[in-house]
Amino acid sequence: MNNRQYTKYLFEKIQSLSNANPGVTRETYGKGENSTHHFLLKELKKFNSSIEIDYGGNFLASYKGKSKKKIVIGSHLDSQKHGGNFDGLAGVIMGIILIKTLFENKIIPKYTIAVMGIRGEESCWFPYSYIGSKIAVGEFNKKLLHSLKRSDTNKSLYYHINKSGFDAKKVSVNKVKFDLKNFKYFIEPHIEQGPVLEKKRIPLGIVTSIRGSFRFRDAVCKGEYLHSGATPMDYRRDSVVAVSSLINEMNIYWDKQLKRGNDLTITFGQFFTDPEEHSFAKSSGHVSFCIDVRSSSIKTLNLTKKYMIKQIQKIESKTKTKFFLGKETNSKPALMNNKLIKIFEDYSKSKKIKSLIMPSGAGHDSSVFANYGIPSLMLFVRNKNGSHNPREYMDIKHFMQVFEVLNGVITNKL
Ligand SMILES: [Zn+2]
Repeated sequence: MNNRQYTKYLFEKIQSLSNANPGVTRETYGKGENSTHHFLLKELKKFNSSIEIDYGGNFLASYKGKSKKKIVIGSHLDSQKHGGNFDGLAGVIMGIILIKTLFENKIIPKYTIAVMGIRGEESCWFPYSYIGSKIAVGEFNKKLLHSLKRSDTNKSLYYHINKSGFDAKKVSVNKVKFDLKNFKYFIEPHIEQGPVLEKKRIPLGIVTSIRGSFRFRDAVCKGEYLHSGATPMDYRRDSVVAVSSLINEMNIYWDKQLKRGNDLTITFGQFFTDPEEHSFAKSSGHVSFCIDVRSSSIKTLNLTKKYMIKQIQKIESKTKTKFFLGKETNSKPALMNNKLIKIFEDYSKSKKIKSLIMPSGAGHDSSVFANYGIPSLMLFVRNKNGSHNPREYMDIKHFMQVFEVLNGVITNKL
């Protein structure tokens, strides 16, 4: 099979292994992610690569070069529930195609080329981002192994790691298996999850930075259920009014930050009154909601949180309600390596493959490697219909163009 046919074959095979009509489901440490892992390892063995698997189940398949320093190409194997087939998987498959090309052409590259299949990137399964890559670099917060429960089974991460055949006990002492000191570069090809490349008809995005975030997934505002006709405004403790005020204040703040040139997004993606108690004839005593704030600047994230807390205190005293934000999860923003950005940009220009320099709004595993100190880069592949949904669509033609750039840079420019 040529590269194009083989790429198509890999995507189709994994689509069928993790089919969840509509779309695919590859649960973190579940059937979909595990079967993808085993299938890809079987394929990788065809190309003379040596395979290591770490305690958290990440695989690293290395094709020997002249130097034992490694260029690692990787992304994640898991998906959202009824997600698309390309999110994460595209990066792992591109690494495999690279090793296949080297093997078939009997090329001994300057650096060892490794493909990494990473576990648990999507935080919809366990409420924690980048489980696999954090385990790979020994930065996983081990206190969470028992407390994080998978959303579909309610069983712990500890249980699921062991159930999948890996070693949660070693993860609990932050034991690292891969030789990170030999990781020269980490490169993550990934579909673009927004509309920019598709709208501009550009196959390749070269990423400058990855946003970090803070999130409160289970926030609650408590007030009091009171008669809508009989309770004057002064006596109300309306939690719908309180949370709405917060949303409004934060939107005004967001707009101001954008006008100052600061990178920021603020989203209240869920907002519920309690169906057991709410009624059209009562003011509401209970709202549950969530907050997701992202920025490529740690300073902006910190200032936004401070501002938000201050607003909450003001709203609490004005509305006589009480906010309980619950557990916070967060991730650090990361910068991609400037030298790599320049090399990829120049090379794509020389090959007349259009590229766009752009930030990443979504979080990705490469932020963990970049913050660990490994020079890292993300390459976005043009993709239609957004992501995290079954309609996600990447044209193999665009995948092959990005591959051409990756292959060319690695064989000629690094
Ligand atoms: Zn992804």
